[in-house]
Amino acid sequence: MNKYDYLIVGAGLFGCVFSYEMTKKGKKCLIIDKRNHIGGNVFTYHKNGIEIHKYGAHIFHTNNKNIWEYITQFAEFNNFINSPVAIYNDELYNLPFNMNTFSKMWGVRTPQEAKRKIHQQITNLNIIQPKNLEEQALSLVGTDVYNKLIKEYTEKQWGRACKNLPPFIIKRLPVRFTYDNNYFSDRYQGIPIGGYTQIIKKMLQNTDIRLNTDYFDHKEELLNIADNILFTGMIDQYYNYCYGALSYRSLRFETEELKTDNYQGCAVVNYTSKNVPYTRIIEHKHFEFGKQSTTIISREYPTEWTKYAEPYYPVNDENNSKLYKLYQNLSKQESNVIFGGRLGHYKYYDMDKVIEQALILSNNI
Ligand code: FAD
Ligand code: UDP
Repeated sequence: MNKYDYLIVGAGLFGCVFSYEMTKKGKKCLIIDKRNHIGGNVFTYHKNGIEIHKYGAHIFHTNNKNIWEYITQFAEFNNFINSPVAIYNDELYNLPFNMNTFSKMWGVRTPQEAKRKIHQQITNLNIIQPKNLEEQALSLVGTDVYNKLIKEYTEKQWGRACKNLPPFIIKRLPVRFTYDNNYFSDRYQGIPIGGYTQIIKKMLQNTDIRLNTDYFDHKEELLNIADNILFTGMIDQYYNYCYGALSYRSLRFETEELKTDNYQGCAVVNYTSKNVPYTRIIEHKHFEFGKQSTTIISREYPTEWTKYAEPYYPVNDENNSKLYKLYQNLSKQESNVIFGGRLGHYKYYDMDKVIEQALILSNNI
């Protein structure tokens, strides 16, 4: 008899929700992570009274009432609304693309004027069914907004031409003909007061945890430790890249303490020009309306993924989607290994979708 019912590889949100649910059902779980902390990319830590989002801004938002009720059982959430601004050279615009953006860009005041302007800019392009991110963006917001706020940011973020990226990536952002700077259109939004790590700790309170443990370095020992495996790492790595490596995009975060109480007046500022090497600066205190006398900021630099870097984003273009299907077919033949999460499903999931998927999985078992 094995010691555990489940070995969970990866202490990110997916693994933790799954472990919490399975433990409630009386199953014994061991969770491992190659990092030195739990929480995966939602991990936060305290410094100078400020909660630091170690792996970039994490704003919880969902349209699903059940998921909101689920996450808020673990922590109280504040009423933070993400309203970032974009800086393009010396110009500043509100995001997402809305009447404030259009008004600053063109001096227009009414939705009709803004729509007319966009229509004028795209009418000659003849885009009927957008085939890539460039066509999708142009058809939604016209050439000026595309050139100043999308093209260079996107190419810096993904290291690929907008023509070679799928349309869905830009459709993550709302386009509104109202004066509304809320980056998300979901009904529920907020930041857990005191950070995400407290949530993860509660989820794992009855789970055995081993950190600094890479599954592939301990495979022999771990193979016979549990009856089943939930794997939330990279699916292509699990299969030793037998069909070739999937593409990912990585990031580098540069975090700095500054002796000012308010550096940028906003939690997230996007730098949309290619002349600035980072995509965003986040000022952590603003996620919790902090009043500390100093501040901490992080610059987010997109980088090419290598086998030694963190795979933050799957690149869900056509070629990679085909390749992923091959790995997915292999995974369907497994009798006691399940895959989940951003890396196991190779999907650009937000936190709410990760929780939803982990709940579906645990309910079905
Ligand atoms: P992860 O958090 O990646 O966890 C997987 C874990 O598995 C990692 O800890 C990793 O170390 C571990 N692991 C991998 N391989 C192995 C191995 N071989 N052995 C042991 N351990 C292994 N979502 C939102 O809803 N709102 C946001 O504002 C938001 N902002 C984001 C900003 C950035 C910069 C990024 C990158 C993501 C953002 N997300 C946001 C998405 C969110 O981070 C994910 O949806 C969520 O964290 C995914 O959880 P996961 O468990 O699937 O993956
Ligand atoms: N994007 C952009 N300009 C911006 C912000 C976003 O062109 O100022 C595009 C870019 O392609 C990005 C996508 O919109 O990858 C999705 O943005 P989101 O903020 O959802 O990205 P994430 O937070 O997941 O990195």
